[in-house]
Amino acid sequence: MKSDIQIAQESKMLPIRDIGASLGLSEDDLEYYGKYKAKISLDVLSEREGREDGKLILVTAINPTPAGEGKSTVTVGLGQALNRLGKKALIALREPSMGPVFGVKGGAAGGGYSQVVPMEDINLHFTGDMHAITSANNLLAAAIDNHVHQGNDLGIDIRRITWKRAMDMNDRALRDVIVGLGGKPNGYPREDGFMITVASEIMAILCLSTSLMDLKERMGRIVIGYDLKGEPVFCRDLKVEGAMALLMKDAIKPNLVQTLENTPAIIHGGPFANIAHGCNSILATRTALKLGEYVITEAGFGADLGAEKFLDIKCRFGGLKPKAVVIVATIRALKLHGGVQKADLSHPDVEALARGIVNLEKQIENIQSFRLTPVIALNKFATDSDEEIAFIKEFLAGKGVEVALTEVWEKGGEGGLDLAKKVIEAADRMEGDYEVLYGTESPIKDKIDTIVKKIYGGKSVAYSATADKQILELEKFGLDKMPICMAKTQYSLSDNPKLLGRPEGFEVKVNEVRVSNGAGFIVCLTGDIMTMPGLPKVPAAEVMDIDENGNIVGLF
Ligand code: ADP
Repeated sequence: MKSDIQIAQESKMLPIRDIGASLGLSEDDLEYYGKYKAKISLDVLSEREGREDGKLILVTAINPTPAGEGKSTVTVGLGQALNRLGKKALIALREPSMGPVFGVKGGAAGGGYSQVVPMEDINLHFTGDMHAITSANNLLAAAIDNHVHQGNDLGIDIRRITWKRAMDMNDRALRDVIVGLGGKPNGYPREDGFMITVASEIMAILCLSTSLMDLKERMGRIVIGYDLKGEPVFCRDLKVEGAMALLMKDAIKPNLVQTLENTPAIIHGGPFANIAHGCNSILATRTALKLGEYVITEAGFGADLGAEKFLDIKCRFGGLKPKAVVIVATIRALKLHGGVQKADLSHPDVEALARGIVNLEKQIENIQSFRLTPVIALNKFATDSDEEIAFIKEFLAGKGVEVALTEVWEKGGEGGLDLAKKVIEAADRMEGDYEVLYGTESPIKDKIDTIVKKIYGGKSVAYSATADKQILELEKFGLDKMPICMAKTQYSLSDNPKLLGRPEGFEVKVNEVRVSNGAGFIVCLTGDIMTMPGLPKVPAAEVMDIDENGNIVGLF
């Protein structure tokens, strides 16, 4: 089998103009970034306000393992399969962050014969949205330190500036830094830190905004820290939200590309699902819903993280109504949840599978708790045995849950036809709307408790003294009536990455609670989760290269 980049480079892309035309988009609706990428004008959405929406399908997964699940691959493959069935389908994905691309993943544009292209652009820089977000973030950071340096009229308490700098790279050395060293001309020394761009509130704002003016208003609402009296200080107090919105004027427009089979794909916004809310932008999803009959979108990591936040944050804010949910699982990953070592995954082991399948069982229950119908995509790997496949089918039949063996990695859309048919049926059967898990008016601790008990299956929540104080403060300032954005390890249903399968009786430790007032949610940091990842011992960057003819290797 060829590598992802080989397959991608051999593919026959259509000019993006033609992809746009297939969606009814005119020259005026598109801004070209070369031949194969374009931004879609926001007018496309406003001009189609009265048009009926397509059906929204969410793709989520079991808790990820180092064996890989193939969520993006299945998302792309399902879109291609729906098109083969004669449905007008679009894919709505997140933009890859360069952190994981150079770290462990090597790419995040699907895989095999189900990829979005041009993958080397999508994975690196793309249309510059990450740069715009990073710049808007850092303009605010510079304005804060400059304000203090120039006399600090707002009385900002430099010990309590919560706004951090950002960069789209995994760089642990920047997690905690001291800025302002070098004497009087360089300002006041203080402790600061960097987040990865995809964890920045600006990314969340981009993804949750419904227009440029909404984005600007949200930027103004950002809480940057506290003053010496202990009151919150807002971005609008520094008067830079207009300039920040200006930096985002192009980034706010969704990006159009295509899959290997020329299915249209809108890729826009890319917050991580462990440390942020994990879904592509509302504007991209809404635009896609106006342009097609089916929109397949993905939320990051497992259903406990990405899907929960997709439903409780993105859909709640965006008025989106998903019709069905695909849960991607692999036999390899379920065996890891059942205690098998990575080196032994190629051996058939139904007993380990039986131990690990509880993880899938819990994620099915999680999706059902939102009143949505899950369809399981069993992403087939060459090492899967017939007994193992039969075991999963029997297990799911016992629960009345549909499963489709999916071979989109190997065969493209052709390998996803069964899944596509089952998704169409599930979406047709859906009556009424999904239900959110909690009301935003409830106290912060009640909302967290609901997520931990109902979705993670935990017993209780323990708060650090810092978190307790932060919650009291947010309640005092009326900054508490918002959804919760849990920051938690993706590897476990609990906050301990080592507890695989379906752990029970655990306590979740909340270390910090921060408000993202512009985004409109409260971030709750659990376990050892950090908002700036590090690189592994052997970063994927080490195998990447380009030669004088432009041939690329190492983006897999
Ligand atoms: P996720 O979205 O869950 O992180 P991806 O779709 O990005 O996963 O896939 C991760 C990696 O696994 C990719 O390199 C992809 O090519 C590979 N992959 C996915 N499905 C299969 C499969 N069925 N067989 C072999 N490799 C696969």
